[in-house]
Amino acid sequence: MIKDIATPARTKEILKKYGFAFKKSLGQNFLIDTNVLHRIVDHAEVGEETGVIEIGPGIGALTEQLAKRAKKVVAFEIDQRLLPILNDTLSSYPNVKVIHEDVLKANVKQVMEEEFGDCKEVMVVANLPYYVTTPIIMKLLEDQLPLKGIVVMLQKEVADRIAANASTKEYGSLSIAIQYYTEAKTVMTVPKTVFVPQPNVDSAVIRLLKREKPAVDMKDEAFFFELMRASFAQRRKTIMNNILQHYPAGKAIKEEIELGLNNAGIDPRRRGESLTIEEFAKATDALYPLLK
Ligand code: SAM
Repeated sequence: MIKDIATPARTKEILKKYGFAFKKSLGQNFLIDTNVLHRIVDHAEVGEETGVIEIGPGIGALTEQLAKRAKKVVAFEIDQRLLPILNDTLSSYPNVKVIHEDVLKANVKQVMEEEFGDCKEVMVVANLPYYVTTPIIMKLLEDQLPLKGIVVMLQKEVADRIAANASTKEYGSLSIAIQYYTEAKTVMTVPKTVFVPQPNVDSAVIRLLKREKPAVDMKDEAFFFELMRASFAQRRKTIMNNILQHYPAGKAIKEEIELGLNNAGIDPRRRGESLTIEEFAKATDALYPLLK
């Protein structure tokens, strides 16, 4: 029987057979530990009726473990050199399709419609390329895809920021942007030793379960995101100062802004990092009529 791809010996053999040289610029750190892979697939609750989108299959380490449990796996891989390798390593899994495309440019919605009609649910499961973790996750969420959730390996520091609560040093616009769409939880931390080559940073696996509707409702979504990002522009400044910096026209109506925030139950002298997502929604409703 052929050994799993994600063992040090088999990975070495595959890399040697194809003379494959890692491209650091593409975030190529391959997993060589099947236990870690099994745990990732467990956390994603992949079952026989699940369709899976993988981003960056590499030589197929995670793809193989997903294919054993899922109904179908569709994997986006940017590096042309990996296509013949994947064709070989995944040849015994007819339920895998590899698409040679930059996932950031792909029409994922269309792919989902074409490929997952017979699946009960679709999960994204991946060991992400670390140079583009945030843009990939934001694209998947902002494109309003009919996903159940996303379970991905990424830098631990980014996982901590995504899952952070208000009034912690990790909390910021990324936490809110992602928690607006999902319930976020770090489910595993992973040592560097399970990758080849080893990355420079610690890693973690985060689980993002899509909410049925966004966490909060407010008058204007675009203004909510703009106000929230403006409030974090300079973390040591008060929200009032950050707001006036971002909306210079607000200086003429400073008292009205202060009154609006106070009426919404938010002291204008607080810092952005202390405001919950619900409070940012309240601040949006109070300030949208004044600053839009
Ligand atoms: N899944 C494999 C594993 O766990 O061993 C490889 C993971 S490696 C961290 C990231 C993979 O993403 C690489 O195969 C890389 O070529 C691919 N990749 C990088 N940027 C990409 C992009 N924009 N779109 C699709 N794949 C990308």
